[in-house]
Amino acid sequence: MSHVLAAVAWPYANGPRHIGHVSGFGVPSDVFSRYMRMAGHDVLMVSGTDEHGTPIQVQADAEGVTPRELADRYNRVIVEDLHGLGLSYDLFTRTTTGNHYAVVQELFSGLLDNGYIVRKTTLGAISPSTGRTLPDRYIEGTCPICGYESARGDQCDNCGNQLDPEQLVNPRSRINGETPEFVETEHFFLDLPAFAEALATWLDARDGWRPNVLKFSRNLLADLQPRAITRDLEWGVPIPLDGWRDRNDKRIYVWFDAVIGYLSASIEWARRTGDPEAWRHWWSADGQGKDANGYYFMGKDNIVFHSVIWPALLLGYSGAGDKAGQPGRLGRLNLPTEVVSSEYLTMEGRKFSSSRRVVIYVRDFLERYDADALRYFIAAAGPESNDTDFTWAEFVRRNNDELVAGWGNLVNRSISMAAKNFGAVPEAVELTDADRELLAVAEAGFATVGDLIGRHRQKAAIGEAMRVVAEANKYLSEQAPWQLKDEASKPRMGTILHVALQVVRDANTLLTPFLPHSAQKVHELLGGTGVHAPMPSIVEVEDLDGGPGYPVLMGDYTVGAKWERVPLVAGTPLAAPKPVFRKLDPSVVDEELARLEAAE
Ligand SMILES: [Zn+2]
Repeated sequence: MSHVLAAVAWPYANGPRHIGHVSGFGVPSDVFSRYMRMAGHDVLMVSGTDEHGTPIQVQADAEGVTPRELADRYNRVIVEDLHGLGLSYDLFTRTTTGNHYAVVQELFSGLLDNGYIVRKTTLGAISPSTGRTLPDRYIEGTCPICGYESARGDQCDNCGNQLDPEQLVNPRSRINGETPEFVETEHFFLDLPAFAEALATWLDARDGWRPNVLKFSRNLLADLQPRAITRDLEWGVPIPLDGWRDRNDKRIYVWFDAVIGYLSASIEWARRTGDPEAWRHWWSADGQGKDANGYYFMGKDNIVFHSVIWPALLLGYSGAGDKAGQPGRLGRLNLPTEVVSSEYLTMEGRKFSSSRRVVIYVRDFLERYDADALRYFIAAAGPESNDTDFTWAEFVRRNNDELVAGWGNLVNRSISMAAKNFGAVPEAVELTDADRELLAVAEAGFATVGDLIGRHRQKAAIGEAMRVVAEANKYLSEQAPWQLKDEASKPRMGTILHVALQVVRDANTLLTPFLPHSAQKVHELLGGTGVHAPMPSIVEVEDLDGGPGYPVLMGDYTVGAKWERVPLVAGTPLAAPKPVFRKLDPSVVDEELARLEAAE
C-alpha cells in the first residue's frame, strides 16, 4: 500500500462545466482514484473551484454583482455538476477560504525568504476612459514573435509564447477597442530562470510520462523568464508584506494562488478529519510522505503550470532551486510524480465554446441521460491521447451497442435465467475446459485492466474489461443453457449459469472505476448488500477560519469492493433483474442537433 495523491485541475468558477471539461480532468482522475483505492492504496483526491482573477471580476462587473457573489453561484453549480457524475473527491473545496489564503501566503513568504521572488517596476496598462487597470488578457494586438494579429496580452495562442501586453504591436482593449496607456507599476516576480537546472534534473529523471508532455515541458526550460505573481486588481489573495497587505489595488496573481490549491486543499482535508498533520503522508519529502506519489490531471493547455511552474514553486519553497535556501514552515514538499494531460474534446466537429454556445453542459446532459453513459463514452472514446470529436450519433451507438447490448445484456440474461430456473445462484457441479477458460480470462482481467489504469491508458483498460464481457456473451451463446431444461441436464445448466454469474461479478468489479453507479446496481442484482462503489456527498461546511460557509464534496471511500475476484456463494437468492442501462431511441440524435442549432 502506498499513499497516492490525485491532484485534479481546478475548474474556473465563471460558469457551469461542459462535457469537454469533465472529459479532460474529471472522469479520468476519478477512474484512476477509484481503481487505486480498490487496489489497496491510500488515495487523497483533491480539487476545488478557482475563483480569483480578472475574468471573474470583469464578469461580475458586467452583471452588477460582487466577484464573491459570482464565485459563490458557480462554485455551487460546479459542485453539483461533479457530484452528478459521481466524482469521488476526498475534498472538493474552493480558493476563497481562509485556509487557502494562509497557505498561499505561506508559500509566497517562503519563496521570498529564499530569494526566488524579486520586486520589479514594470509597465501596466490602464484604460484611458475609465482610469482602471486593463488586465493583460483583455488587451489584444499583434504578436511580436510570430506576427499573429490576435495575440492576447498574456500569451499568444498561435505560437504559445508568454507575452507582456506592452510587447504587443498595435495594442487595443478587447472591452471597448481603445488604445491602452502604459504607466509604471511595481510588482513581484517569480525568478523562474533560477530553477532551470533543478527543473532539468527533475524532468530528466521522469519515467513513464506521456512523451508529448515531457517533450513540451523540456522545451519550456529553454526560455524561462521571470513571471509576474502579483497584479493590479482588487479581487485576489492579499500580498503578505507590510505596506502591501492592506492595499486594495494589488493582489497575488490568480495562477499563483490556484496552483497552490492542491496543497491547501490537502491541508484543509486534514484539518477537517481532526488530524491536521495528516496531509504530510502525501506531501512531506522527508518522513511520512517520502514514498508517496502524486498524479496531476488536466487538459493540455495547463501543462506548463504543472510540469514547470508548480514544481518550481515547490522547489523554491523547499530550498531546492538553483539558489538553494531553507525549507519553509511546512517542510520540504514532494514534486509531482506524473503530469497526466489529456487532449481536447470537440463537439460535432467544432471546438467547445461557451460564448458561441457550441456546448453541452453537464447538468443538461444529466437531465436527459445517465451519468454512466457519459462516463462510458469518455473512457472508451474520450480525448486521452488525441483530440477527439463528440458526436451524438456515436454517443447513442456506443450506449446502445456496447453498454446495453453488450454489458447490460450479459447481466440481464444470466441473472434472469438463473432467477427463473433456480431462484438463486446455482451450484457449479463439474467444470469443463470451456468453463475454466472463461473463468481464467476474467481473472486475468484484474492484472491487465489494473495495470493499464495505473499507466493512464484508460481507453485500453475499458477495452480489456469489455473484452471479458464479450467472451462471456460468446460463452453463453455457445453453451446455450436455455436448451438444458430437462431434469437430467439441469445440473449442467446450473454450472454454466454459475460460471456466467461469476464472470458477471468479475466484470462488474473491473468496470466499477468506470461505471460506479451501475456497478452498485449490478452488485445488488447479484444479491450483494452494502456499498460496492462509494459515492461523494455534498456537505455544507463552515469555513475553518471564520469566513462564510460553503458546499464541498466529500465521501467515505474506505468502504466498497476490492480489486479482486470474490467467489459467488451458491444459494444466494436472485430476483428477476430490472435493466441496468437505458436503450436510447435513435431519434435523440436529431433532437440534440436541433437543440444545438437553436442555441447557436
Ligand atoms: Zn505568437
